[in-house]
Formats: sequence, structure tokens, C-alpha cells
Amino acid sequence: MHHKVQPALEHYLGIPGSFITLFILIVGLALFFYIIYKRYLLLKSANPDPRFDSLWRRFYDLIIYGIFQKRQPRYLWIGILHIMIFWGFVVLILRSIALYGLGLKAEFILPFMGGSPGEFYHLFKDILEIIVLFACIAAILRRAISRPARYEFKHGKAHKFHAYLVLGLISFLMVTDIAMDGSGTLLGEKSDYWLPAANSVSYLFNGLGPDTLKTIYLWNYWLHILTLMVFLNYLPLGKHFHIITGIFNVFLSKLKKGSIKPPRWGVENIEELDSLGVDKVEDFTWKHILDFYTCTECGRCTDNCPANIVGRPLSPMEVTLKIRDYAYESNPIFNLKGKADSPDQNLHLIGNVITPDEIWSCTTCGACEEECPVFIEYIDKMVEMRRHLVLMESRFPPEIEKIFRNMEVYDDPWGMGRALRTDWAGDLKIKTITEDSDIDLLYWVGCAGAFDDRCKEVAASLVRVLQESGVTFGILGKEERCCGDFARRTGNEYLFQVLVRKNIEILKKCKVKKILTSCPHCYNTFKNEYPQFGGEFEVIHHSEYIAELIKEGNLKLSKELDKTISYHDPCYLGRHNGLYEAPREILKLITGIKTIELERSRDRSFCCGAGGGRYWMEEYGKRINETRIDEVIEVKPDIITTACPYCLIMLEEGIKAKEEVSGELKALDIIEIVEGTI
Ligand code: SF4
Ligand code: SF4
Repeated sequence: MHHKVQPALEHYLGIPGSFITLFILIVGLALFFYIIYKRYLLLKSANPDPRFDSLWRRFYDLIIYGIFQKRQPRYLWIGILHIMIFWGFVVLILRSIALYGLGLKAEFILPFMGGSPGEFYHLFKDILEIIVLFACIAAILRRAISRPARYEFKHGKAHKFHAYLVLGLISFLMVTDIAMDGSGTLLGEKSDYWLPAANSVSYLFNGLGPDTLKTIYLWNYWLHILTLMVFLNYLPLGKHFHIITGIFNVFLSKLKKGSIKPPRWGVENIEELDSLGVDKVEDFTWKHILDFYTCTECGRCTDNCPANIVGRPLSPMEVTLKIRDYAYESNPIFNLKGKADSPDQNLHLIGNVITPDEIWSCTTCGACEEECPVFIEYIDKMVEMRRHLVLMESRFPPEIEKIFRNMEVYDDPWGMGRALRTDWAGDLKIKTITEDSDIDLLYWVGCAGAFDDRCKEVAASLVRVLQESGVTFGILGKEERCCGDFARRTGNEYLFQVLVRKNIEILKKCKVKKILTSCPHCYNTFKNEYPQFGGEFEVIHHSEYIAELIKEGNLKLSKELDKTISYHDPCYLGRHNGLYEAPREILKLITGIKTIELERSRDRSFCCGAGGGRYWMEEYGKRINETRIDEVIEVKPDIITTACPYCLIMLEEGIKAKEEVSGELKALDIIEIVEGTI
């Protein structure tokens, strides 16, 4: 590549030019590593987080989501533009390294870039430069003209400038390199390939004398290598730090989505901890701080956040940006005033940077995390801030005080008590596992199934279907307590752990191996969180179990159902546990049913509004469940079905609030549809 592509560079630069190149390189890299070191210090001061397990899975995610950018095309056009810029940039960085090398040493050549591979690379990079330039201009125009709402944020700091600057710098790098190649062609460089960008530019320079061409050539060289160093050093100062950190963030992402992190990794007894939860930047884990560094400010999280969509004061992107801005201000890179740190370094985040209202607005639905192209996590951060409010300050919405007390005294949020736990079963003749220890399958009813009138019908329906299929199963009866999902997600870790330990004790005493649940919250907690406390059980959701019974011929569906049905994906079944197919398979197996997908479905499903303890909190303004029912109405099904007791209640309430469909549109659990067709 060298002798054909850049024959003139070392000749034109001479010894002084080489020294200047070396100077730019040393100063630029020294500054860059200093900035990175300062960023590293903040990571180092944060809490631990074990992220080096399951390395193969992590490498897989790195390739699929980091290198091939699988999540980008979820927003199709900007996603494609981003992939073009990303890949172009990866390829073109080799060229920039080669230019520094050539400035230093006449015969410099990158490994594997001699001869034909070098020529081919030169053609490839020439074409990519046009593509990247086009993509940058398109991205600039898109930001400036169509101004997508998701880029806007309200907390006052204008970040848009960063995006324009970086897109401008990348474009400038392309232009200077093309101009170098264009002038170089006329100065005698030859290539065996036709170079569309360089050749087109050389037409513009036709007729210029050798001195002018040489000046153009050299100026573009200096501008290119200087711009590259400015670009490199600018990255860790703003949102484009993700160019460096993004790939690590994807590699280190959370693998068990449905679980909430323990208060401190490596500390089993939380009584040993001086403080719980997060109220300062360094209370976060190092991975969460890496998240803050990595946010690209694309706004996809906020665009899909149900709380944000209905106008609650929560924008996940802004949570990240506010904390990041604050972290940067209190940990300055350059401390020109000579102060060790900002005077605000001990500022409490809650109340000063993030409001309690933002923290309590989260439904823990996971839509933000599912959408984020660089796998930034929110739920753990929200729960950690709730932990601080609940456990350190006893500050929480007044309506959940009663719920906490109910759970402490009665072991369920309804406050009904264990003595009434089996009333729903009536004359269904269900065995309790404590009476018959030979029963393999435990039906974990859950608090909603035991105490909410509507959900009691669902629990009874499931029992009748199981009995019809000849399945032997039992319940815990009065020994069952709340699984703890609500307590953990509202930050009451003490209460959660008390419930978990009591439940594990009784489950182990009864030698339970397999748990069947109809509640995705119980399902998720048993599957993803009980193992943190030594509770390892096989957990199965009723939609999976029933689908298997039908497919294996143990449950016959003999009646047709001539209805149009849409399925609402519960967040804790779908996004948190990847269970999308079983309920849909059941619907397909019933003759006569026409299914119609909601516009937001599967991993883009819209929350019902009940998760994260929101079920028990006051709502004001527009409601999430009513917004979901508006989406249901748009596709006009006869029945909206789901597979979660809380979703069912929320959907029914949403329907009641809509006069136009109240009484016509029905909300049913998937098991009720099955029971109606056997
Ligand atoms: S988990 Fe759901 S409600 Fe919470 S911030 Fe993310 S999208 Fe919003
Ligand atoms: S958190 Fe993720 S989705 Fe949200 S703005 Fe940042 S990069 Fe985009």
C-alpha cells in the first residue's frame, strides 16, 4: 500500500515534519490516557459488581450486539445510519493509524497491508469514506430539521452541541483524507484500483500546479492527524465516550434480566452494611458508572418508557444524563483552580439531582433496558435509590406504608392473613403439599390469586384445567406467603429477605422441586432471585405448562371459539424472562380463534402500569393501563388476553374507564380461554 498510495508523504514532510507528527502523537495520547485515568478513578471508587461470569455468552453478545449492532435497526433509518458510521469508522481508523506511521517512518506499513490487500483496502476505505460522509450529513440534517422528540430533554443542559460537533469532526476526517488522496493522485500516486472518491476530487484539482497540490496535500495531512487527536480527546468528555466504552458495556451487561442486584455483592447479611441503597454517585456499582459514561443520548429508553409516555416525571435518559453531568462536575478532569475536588462532591443525589417522584414513577417494566443499544441498566438503579429512601430515610409514598405493614404482619400485601389463603379454593378439593409429600408439582397461587376476587377466578380456572388433564399437584395452603416481589422492587430489602427465607424454609421442608405459578412476578422472583438465597427450584409458568399439556395430548380442546383475540405480553413474563411464545401457541391451538397482535407487543410490549409496586401506589393524570387499552381498542379484538393477574386487573380497570368498549371488550387470563374450550 505504502509505495503506491503515499509515495510523497515522507518526502514532503521531511525530518521536521516527522518530529511534529511525533509531538502531536505523544501529547495527544498522553492527554487522552490522563483523561481516561481520571474517569477510571471514579469507577474505582464505586461499589463492586461481578461481571466476568459466563464469558462465552458475553462474547456472543459482544459480537451480536456490540460488533453487529443488532439493536440499532429497532429504529430503522437512524439505526442503519449508525451502523454505516460505526463500520466505516472501524475500517477508516486503520487509515488514520497508517497516516501517523507514514509521518514517522518512510517505509511504515500496517501488518497485512502490503501489496494487493493494501490496494484493496484503499479501494474499500475510499468507498466507505463516501458512505460515512453521507451518513454523517444525513444524521446532522435529521437532527437539525426533523428534530425527533426523543432527543429533547428538560433538565436544562444542552447536549445537542456534542452531537453536531462529533458528526462534524468525523465528516472533517473524511473530507481531509479524500482531499489528500485526490491531490496525491495528481502528484503521481498510482493505484491499481479505481478510487471513486479520490478520483472525483482529483478532477476538481485538475489544472493546479505541483506546489499548490503539495500544499493541499500537506495541509490536509496536518488537519487530519490533528483532528483525529482532538476527536480522540473529546470522546471521554461527552456523550461520544460510548465509542470507546460501548463495546465494554455490552460485554459486561447484566445477563439475568429479571433479578434485582443484592444491596452489596459479596455481603450476605445486609445488617453488616453501614448504609443501604444509593444516594451518592459512588454508591452505585462501577458497572452503573460505566453505564453513565456510555449513554449515547439517543432517547430510545425514554421513548419507550410507559411512565414518560403518560406524562409522569420520569425520563430514563434524563436520569442518566443528570447523574452523569453531576458526576463529571464533581469529579473534574482538569482542576485549574487547584481544588482537590468540587465543593459539591458529597451532594445527595436524591432531592438534588433526582427527585423522589422520578424514582417512584418507575414500573420496573424493562422497556428502557430492552431498547437501549448499549445495554444501559435502569431497574437496579431505581431500586437502589428506593432502598435508600425506604431503609435509610423511611421516605416512601404514604399509601405503601400500609402495604409494608400488611406484609410484615399478615405476609401478604392485601392484609388478609394466612388463615384466609385457601378460601378461594372453595370445594375444588385441592390437596395441600403438607398433607401429601409425594406430590411433585406445587401450584404457587400467589397473593393476587388468593385474595383478589377477579384473580381468584383465574386460580380456580387453572385448578379445574389441571384436574381435567389428570395432573397431580398440590398447594402450600396456609403455609404460603408473599413471594416478596413487591417488597424488593419498592426498596424494602429487609422485608423481602425475611419473606424469601421463610418461603425457602417451607419449600425445602416440603421437598418441593417444581413450582407452577400463574403470576409472572412470583415466577420471576422464584426463578431469578431465590437462587441468590439458596432457593433453587424448577419454576414453570402456567402458560408454558398448559401449552405442553395440549401439545402432548393430555388436554383436549374440543370446542371452537369464534373470537378475535389479542395477547398482552406481561413485562415479567416477556421482557424479563423471554417467554413470548407459549401463550401464542395456546391461542393457535384453539380452533376458530383469530389472533391480532397489538402494535406494541413481545419485547416492545407496553406495561400495564402495575409493576415495581405501582399497583399499590396512587395514580394521577393519564393512566398507563388506560393508555394500553387505547392501543387495544385500535386493533378491535373481542378479547384481550394476558397471563398475569396484575395485568388482568389493570386491563379490566382500563376497559371500565373506556365507555366506548366497557361491556363489550373482555379481559381474560389465557387459562380462562383454555377452560372455555375444553
Ligand atoms: S423500567 Fe420501565 S418505567 Fe422504569 S424507567 Fe425503564 S421504561 Fe421507564
Ligand atoms: S440509556 Fe440507552 S437508550 Fe437511553 S439514551 Fe442512553 S443509550 Fe439511548
